[in-house]
Amino acid sequence: MRDFSGDHRWLSINTATVRRQRGQDWPLLQILDACAARGIRAVAPWRDQVAAAGLQATARTLRAHGIALSGYCRGGMFTDADAAEQNLRALDEACALGAPCLVLVVGALPGALAGRAQHKDIAAARAGVHDGIAALLEQARQRGMPLAIEPLHPMYAADRACINTLEQALDVCDALDPARSGALGVAVDVYHVWWDPKLQQQIARAGRERLLAFHVCDWLTPTRDLLNDRGMMGDGVIDIPRIRGWVEGAGYAGFSEVEIFSTQDWWQRDGGAVLDTCIARHRSAV
Ligand code: ZN
Repeated sequence: MRDFSGDHRWLSINTATVRRQRGQDWPLLQILDACAARGIRAVAPWRDQVAAAGLQATARTLRAHGIALSGYCRGGMFTDADAAEQNLRALDEACALGAPCLVLVVGALPGALAGRAQHKDIAAARAGVHDGIAALLEQARQRGMPLAIEPLHPMYAADRACINTLEQALDVCDALDPARSGALGVAVDVYHVWWDPKLQQQIARAGRERLLAFHVCDWLTPTRDLLNDRGMMGDGVIDIPRIRGWVEGAGYAGFSEVEIFSTQDWWQRDGGAVLDTCIARHRSAV
């Protein structure tokens, strides 16, 4: 397992972590400048942030700073009516930015995110997701852009993702890419999977070919908001180094991406100070 205590060369910042500080959007290009100034070598931006900054301007700024991507957020939502179109755009943007993978939050019961689920058939939603990934995989292969299925914590099964365990995600991978070609894999986010009794076993099953991204933050007790109360690494109950050990033991050697949504705490602070804390905790708690 790599020693992170001496530097932060393997730190990536998911740019949602500092997207809106003290009520004001922090523009993506300024976030990139602030990361570069701190020697942060990678980021994972969100589509809306890139759209606001401009795709070409984002690509230029990344190149100028020598900042890599650890992933692009996000595609998926396969049960939405406009999923196919949105996902093709996301793929092309990921290619333009040189992302190593497009992260997929796969969606769940149609309409549920808006509070009006159209049906209660989660098995049908899962079948639709399976078919959606199969179709997108063809397009992704043509572009050479790997797809990373991110299993989400079961508390999001109704509205955001009906793939809720690493085992489920890997079953889809094995069905659609039995050759383990590298075109389809998973994003392991400790926030979503830390509780899973099969986690160690399924990380080993994933192996190097399937482990495309590793996301970190912490699980706070109590958790005050289902979506936007993620903790800074070291402030909660997730044994992050243990999980990182399993992931690296399976062959993962990429970035450790900090992804924190925090309305009440980290989004209320100065963005630069948040980045400084991410660096410190990457070294001490990841
Ligand atoms: Zn994540």
